Amino acid sequence: MNNDEFRKQAHLFADRISDYLSEIEKYRVKSGVKPGDILNRLPAIPPDHAQEFSEIVSDFEEIILPGITHWQNPSFFAYFPANSSYPSVLAEMLTAAMGVQGMIWETSPAATELEERMMDWLKIMLGLPEHFHGVIHDTASTATLTALLTAREKLTSYQINESGFDRTVYRIYCSAETHSSIEKGARIAGIGKRNVIKVKTDDRFRMEVNSLRQAIATDQKMGYKPLCIVATLGTTGSTTIDPLEDIAGVAAENKIWLHVDAAFAGTALLLEEYRWMIRGMEQADSFVFNPHKWMFTNFDCSAYFVKDKEALINTFSITPEYLRTASSGLVNDYRDWGIQLGRRFRALKLWFVIRNFGVEGLKQKIRHHISLAQDFEKKVLESEDFELVTPRTVNLVCFRFKPKDTDDVEVLNTMNERLLQAVNATGKMFISHTKLNGVYTLRMVIGQTNVTEKHVENAWKLLNECADAL
Ligand SMILES: *Cc1c(COP(=O)(O)O)cnc(C)c1O
Repeated sequence: MNNDEFRKQAHLFADRISDYLSEIEKYRVKSGVKPGDILNRLPAIPPDHAQEFSEIVSDFEEIILPGITHWQNPSFFAYFPANSSYPSVLAEMLTAAMGVQGMIWETSPAATELEERMMDWLKIMLGLPEHFHGVIHDTASTATLTALLTAREKLTSYQINESGFDRTVYRIYCSAETHSSIEKGARIAGIGKRNVIKVKTDDRFRMEVNSLRQAIATDQKMGYKPLCIVATLGTTGSTTIDPLEDIAGVAAENKIWLHVDAAFAGTALLLEEYRWMIRGMEQADSFVFNPHKWMFTNFDCSAYFVKDKEALINTFSITPEYLRTASSGLVNDYRDWGIQLGRRFRALKLWFVIRNFGVEGLKQKIRHHISLAQDFEKKVLESEDFELVTPRTVNLVCFRFKPKDTDDVEVLNTMNERLLQAVNATGKMFISHTKLNGVYTLRMVIGQTNVTEKHVENAWKLLNECADAL
């Protein structure tokens, strides 16, 4: 392909992408294909010779699109949003065209300096402590692993990086509702899954701080070394907010690294009325939230903040801090701030999004989503056939079908599983589930960029129709 042909195709693509996004509701939200359907339509061997671009595009439409679950469809209410927006998509076009590598400052000074500025903007937007230093990672899983490794190295004076593990047993504390990435991080960091202590939660699934304190005291008596406490603001199952201030107190008393995982709900901190969630944050050592979930910045873009920048860099730099020259301290070399060497230029889409929405525009959207969730919660509360499973905190409603004459947990679980399958099979909406205290729970997350009242109402109607049919 030459530049003339590219120009022609790019114009067509602009139309194609605009059509896709304006007509997205004509697609089934959740792909209906079966395992292997797509694979079997793809040739087993690669082409030897150049193929017509038009042919590639028509195969995209015929083979690939049917196997896509449309996360940007406003009736996508499953898991968590991975929302996108027009300015974000446009920034990604430029990023792809430039193919920038953001390893170090020199490999593209603007990529580094825009990233630094965007992280400072986010700090202001979310009300995070000024002493935090921010860096963009691909995902919250990576950011959390980065936190665990930094905690490990700081605690051991960088000795595990140097000579590997001795026989010390390190412990990580989180609640039973914590995201699976903590356990995964603990495995990769060599701490061991067995040493991830899942602290009991209260009746609203929040970490019980007394149990945390006890677990740490017991471990210390046994000769184990507490390494890190992970507090979650917005658990995956039910968006529960752990009591950060109390947890921070325990971390400070015991001098344990405190990592705060707000991957999804962190966006709510844009709103002053949700700032109560981060009381105690000055004590935290690290914090992660994903603009790629609920802040209109398409995947991937995870914002990681750390208090002790030197500890982070000492953990990941392959040049030890003491060997650095004066000039290397003048700029950030982000390859030293995490696991990756090569890094995408992710700050550009964040810049486009924040400027094109404006902070007020972002807040309005978030408030709107939360108010839609409030409306939906009200419908559930007023319904004879549905009930809330746990109170809503942000924009996730945890509920279930509960006909008056049925009380058996197993029967209800099966009914709700069938209801979930039935509504998703229509292709008109997509919700997911979790289990809370053994209760099969339907999760309705309202956070897609263009979701409106109408989509939520249609979803409620469809849920009732499918429930009647059961
Ligand atoms: C989504 C989520 C994660 C994982 O995020 P990735 O960016 O996909 O790694 C971790 N923790 C919480 C609380 C989440 O909601």
